[in-house]
Amino acid sequence: MFKKILIANRGEIACRVAATARRLGIKTVAVHSDADAGAKHVAACDEAIHIGGSAPKDSYLRWPAILEAAQATGAQAIHPGYGFLSENEEFAQACAAAGLVFIGPPASAIKDMGLKAESKRLMEQAQVPLVPGYHGANQDAALLQAEADRIGYPVLIKASAGGGGKGMRAVDRSEDFAAALASCQREASNSFGDDAVLIEKYVQRPRHIEIQVFGDQHGNIVYLFERDCSVQRRHQKVLEEAPAPGMTPELRARMGEAAVAAARAVNYVGAGTVEFIVEQPGGYEHPEQMKFYFMEMNTRLQVEHPVTEAITGLDLVEWQLRVAAGEPLPLAQEQLQIKGHAIEARICAENPERQFLPATGRLDRYRKPAHDSFRIASVRFDDGVREGDAISPFYDSMVAKLIVQGDTREQALARLDEALAQTHIVGLATNVQFLRQVVRSESFAGARLDTALIERERAALFGQDPVGLPLAVAAAVAQTLLAERACQGPDPFSKTDGWRSHGIFARRFAFDYLGERVSATLSYHRDAALQLTVGEGATAVSGPLQFTPRQPGDWALDIAFGTQRSRATVYLDGERVEVFTPQGAAQLVEVDLLAHAGDSGAEGGRLTAPMPGKVVAFLVAAGERVAQGQPLAVMEAMKMEHTIAAPADGVVSELLYAVGDQVGDGAELLKLELELA
Ligand code: ADP
Ligand code: ADP
Ligand code: MG
Repeated sequence: MFKKILIANRGEIACRVAATARRLGIKTVAVHSDADAGAKHVAACDEAIHIGGSAPKDSYLRWPAILEAAQATGAQAIHPGYGFLSENEEFAQACAAAGLVFIGPPASAIKDMGLKAESKRLMEQAQVPLVPGYHGANQDAALLQAEADRIGYPVLIKASAGGGGKGMRAVDRSEDFAAALASCQREASNSFGDDAVLIEKYVQRPRHIEIQVFGDQHGNIVYLFERDCSVQRRHQKVLEEAPAPGMTPELRARMGEAAVAAARAVNYVGAGTVEFIVEQPGGYEHPEQMKFYFMEMNTRLQVEHPVTEAITGLDLVEWQLRVAAGEPLPLAQEQLQIKGHAIEARICAENPERQFLPATGRLDRYRKPAHDSFRIASVRFDDGVREGDAISPFYDSMVAKLIVQGDTREQALARLDEALAQTHIVGLATNVQFLRQVVRSESFAGARLDTALIERERAALFGQDPVGLPLAVAAAVAQTLLAERACQGPDPFSKTDGWRSHGIFARRFAFDYLGERVSATLSYHRDAALQLTVGEGATAVSGPLQFTPRQPGDWALDIAFGTQRSRATVYLDGERVEVFTPQGAAQLVEVDLLAHAGDSGAEGGRLTAPMPGKVVAFLVAAGERVAQGQPLAVMEAMKMEHTIAAPADGVVSELLYAVGDQVGDGAELLKLELELA
């Protein structure tokens, strides 16, 4: 076994690999960028080497610097994690040339599976079932259009070199094909330096079921069963679970054997995943009729590998290290078994209410559920950040992975909901509450899975108010009073905006909540309880308000408002109030009634970046006349493209950045002179 390895990655996966290495007595070397100088993964390793600037191309993708770091520290092998260099064939070769072991498959297998189109041709030969489509080398636009017409709509255009949900366009009609192709090619060449595409039949209501495979250097290949990753947004996974609901032993064996055949066709060694798109012609009720087609193989450890660890009881990173060191696979196929059910939720810095726009910011409060990290447990929480750390625009928006395990799916679901309820992140937008809504949705709870689940359950997932307005406001008022009491003494009306009349003290509050302004009035009569009224007029809710802090110095309260009783944890941060109850989370913004006499109108003509990122394209030139809704610019941040459209008709007067520029959140991208009707 190795004595020392270098981990060529960051974040949770670097910490994950380091944890197993430590358990096995292997020393670890971290590499880091400028932005990550104080990162958790640096602290998790025995040594750390600075390899360059914050942008991935200046550090985590700079493989000469990484090889140099390995040699300087005497590391014998390099673990690439996922993303970055993990599927870079040249890097795998360069490791070997430098006398270092690449902890992953042979470079030839990465190459064979690296391009989606090439790999499909190989799989065809190996008789692995494929989605009907075109994956030829001829990329003539007219030919591609003809192929799409032949396959029949809807079709999916995929960047052949694509990955991570990028470079894919679904097309419903022949007349939309040309525009979608151009946009897909642009994203492909920007992101992957290769604009080749393939076309597939768009499978309706499919499931994404993938098989974990493992090979060793002695020709053994096994499958470690499946993971269902059907719950997706923008073709990216949100929840993953194993075993796949409804899977029959017969189908599992067929899919497992197809995956092993796929791996064998490229002489696979190490951890890999064969992804299948699964059609459900018999609907959710007849899973035995499911038909599976090869989609692609990921030649690395996958984000969701802990789900497989949970149901098999195995440490996949340990297997990777053993295989890379030349040992045979620890277990044979017939020794592998599934026990219980596991689900992973990806906790991301993003705003589900705004098309999952990635968010950046600081983890001002970061409270995790009771858990173990990087090892099998009923609640496992893997992350690469600590309270106070920033989620920067340079890297992926994933903050943490929450993995739960139970004897049954129901038990795992209950644990997941509870653990999500105990996950409090304040300081930036996250999908935690959204994940709870998904977990509780009828489709997910009832295991009616397909990749359109989020779209189908839209009404139950977005714009929800799980806490309830009156309780959210009551909790915000209560914590505000407690905070004032802590610095000013026990009088809730000591603030200057309190007023008094006929022996009754009253104080007004206002909050912005779910896009609405809500007023609240707190009144206090000598020897009587606090009375709170939330809202105005016929819909107002009134009642006595009582609250007690659960523990001194903590943010948790027991609260009673009218007939409602709840536990609440309430964080105050300037005017922002974040309320967490067992039912869910709510964000309020306290409005200073004295300062906000009138709100300013919309900013005319300023077109700003919705998040920090890179300008990928300007679709207009200065002087050009544009119509309302016309796309003006394309930005890219954290794996996603965003189009900025004209808010009204107008004339572009100036472009303020160049293509390729990195811009900050709110940066003005171009000037538009509006023609207001
Ligand atoms: P998984 O394959 O486990 O489902 P993703 O597809 O989201 O997960 O990819 C895993 C990680 O690897 C992502 O966080 C992403 O940053 C990175 N990644 C995946 N594919 C690519 C790629 N082609 N180029 C750059 N990064 C990638
Ligand atoms: P990536 O490299 O980003 O992982 P994949 O080719 O694995 O790209 O596809 C990602 C997701 O896109 C799948 O999980 C599935 O939801 C959807 N998808 C891919 N191919 C098809 C298809 N032919 N029909 C319908 N959905 C598809
Ligand atoms: Mg994939």
